[in-house]
Amino acid sequence: MIVAKFGGTSVADAAAIRRLVEIVRTRLADRPIVVVSALAKVTDTLLALAPLACAGDDVTLDAAIGALLERHAATAHGIGPAAEAVLPAIADDAAALRRELGAAFGRPLRPAELDALAGRGELWSSRLVAAAFAEAGLDAPWVDMRTVMLTDNRFGRATPQMQVFTARARERLRPLVEAGGVPVTQGFIGATSDGTPTTLGRGGSDFTASLLGAALGVQRVEIWTDVSGLMTADPRIVPAARTLRAASYEEAAELATFGARVLHPATALPLVRAGIPIVVLNSTRPDDPGTTVEPSAELERLGDSPVRSISWKRGITVVNVRAPRMLGAYGFLRAMFEVFERHETVVDVLASGEVSVSLTVEDPGRLDAVVRDLSELGEVWIETGRAIVAVVGIGMRTTPGLAARLFRAVQPANVEVISQGASAINVTFVVREEDGPGVVRRLHQEFFGI
Ligand code: ASP
Ligand code: MG
Repeated sequence: MIVAKFGGTSVADAAAIRRLVEIVRTRLADRPIVVVSALAKVTDTLLALAPLACAGDDVTLDAAIGALLERHAATAHGIGPAAEAVLPAIADDAAALRRELGAAFGRPLRPAELDALAGRGELWSSRLVAAAFAEAGLDAPWVDMRTVMLTDNRFGRATPQMQVFTARARERLRPLVEAGGVPVTQGFIGATSDGTPTTLGRGGSDFTASLLGAALGVQRVEIWTDVSGLMTADPRIVPAARTLRAASYEEAAELATFGARVLHPATALPLVRAGIPIVVLNSTRPDDPGTTVEPSAELERLGDSPVRSISWKRGITVVNVRAPRMLGAYGFLRAMFEVFERHETVVDVLASGEVSVSLTVEDPGRLDAVVRDLSELGEVWIETGRAIVAVVGIGMRTTPGLAARLFRAVQPANVEVISQGASAINVTFVVREEDGPGVVRRLHQEFFGI
């Protein structure tokens, strides 16, 4: 058995969905289970309905829902009669959504309502994909992942309950595969024990795929996207960037955390224990070998250095705390982290000196509250418009002269926070956002000569 997950761009329209069917057809002997995202951009479009409901703007809301339906209808027409036959079900669900949003007019949506809204795209796309298989003469039962993926009720980033999920996945999906079918289901969504819809967080379809892969002990998890795997850098910034043929779980997680938008950062987690490989593949170039992420990966060196890839992430805020009384005192860091915990704000990179600490935050949502509480511990100032650059490689800590070479290449950009974790595979630092692309280019040139 394998799990084959197709992201939004791989189900963007009828042509993409037909390509998906052909890709899966070449893998029937591997007994695939198909996991899909919403059609490209649909999750964003759905979430953009929330403020319209809050503003009570029914005209714009109706137009936006109409456009979404139109997009799914056009896709169905491009696929054929089997897909057209599921349009009434999608339209009914859109009507239900419209009623739910109508009931929320004049107030912000509650977290549970936001999840019910955001998860609709996957329900609709998976209907179309299952129909496309039927159109191609394949038996592709549609499975509602909300009846399999049991989660807690942390809406917006719910945590799967692995035992129940595993048991249900085996009970529900295995027989379908054994009967020769290609089950089609949704990434990203789940439900609480009372059936309230939840989501696993943005980009969570990859995570669903790997959770399913772990539950079923599959041979591999394929992640189909629109680039040919993990790369030495973002090809939009470094056109000569190359694909990594192999990567370790650790590298994949680092790259995913720091900006390579190919994989959800948690994708490797469920697969580590069983050592199940993840293969990242390009649905527009299905013959490209892609990147295989696995524990025994032979990590090739791409230049005369230990560096294997460079990623960056913009939209970062640096929070600095200066507190002379932390000198020689204990409990300071704990007090500081309690503030972040209280406001559920994730810290990515941390660097600490004798009397000051700098941390990076991606989601500025509750920054005001964080700064207010941190101010009780010391002097606090923030810097916005920053970017994190992550240089990932093998044995980075043990290579003499690497840091000097790295920071020479970064110049003239100013480096603000430097961090090298205990894992010997990355060096992370902060620069101004506008310097990011240039820094990535110069580092790529320095370490790969292109
Ligand atoms: N459709 C969801 C999102 O856009 C989940 C995913 O694509 O992985 O976040
Ligand atoms: Mg994704």
